[in-house]
Amino acid sequence: MEELYQEIILEHNKRPRHFGPLPDATHTAAGRNPMCGDELSVSVRLEGDRIVEVRFQGQGCAISKASASLMTEALSGLPVARAQALADRVLHALQPHGPDLTMSEDGELAALLGVRRFPARVKCATLAWHAFFCALQGGTQTSTE
Ligand code: ZN
Repeated sequence: MEELYQEIILEHNKRPRHFGPLPDATHTAAGRNPMCGDELSVSVRLEGDRIVEVRFQGQGCAISKASASLMTEALSGLPVARAQALADRVLHALQPHGPDLTMSEDGELAALLGVRRFPARVKCATLAWHAFFCALQGGTQTSTE
């Protein structure tokens, strides 16, 4: 399982999905993780109560980029309430003793669980998700510090 998780992370880092600017974004927030030097910005296009697309750009380590890529795949196209619930679940799952994510229920997102064994990297993995919440709440900047 660990090997599969690692493969998914490496693959998303190499070929990030929904990467680049989102010109018609309705919400955008920049996230910084000074511990590692990750700087990602997350943009959302909201239409009514549906998230049409989530995109991200910026620079970061493999884990921060893979997590952002997995996030954009998971949240694009969802009703906003469901997207928020899912993002909330992922953030809880990355806490020590958090609930598990499963391949059957959460698909590739489950790969993020591999990070739980490396507490110093959890901030890398959660950065994009915090930026997503920040953007939806009308904020423009968030930091893990
Ligand atoms: Zn990082």
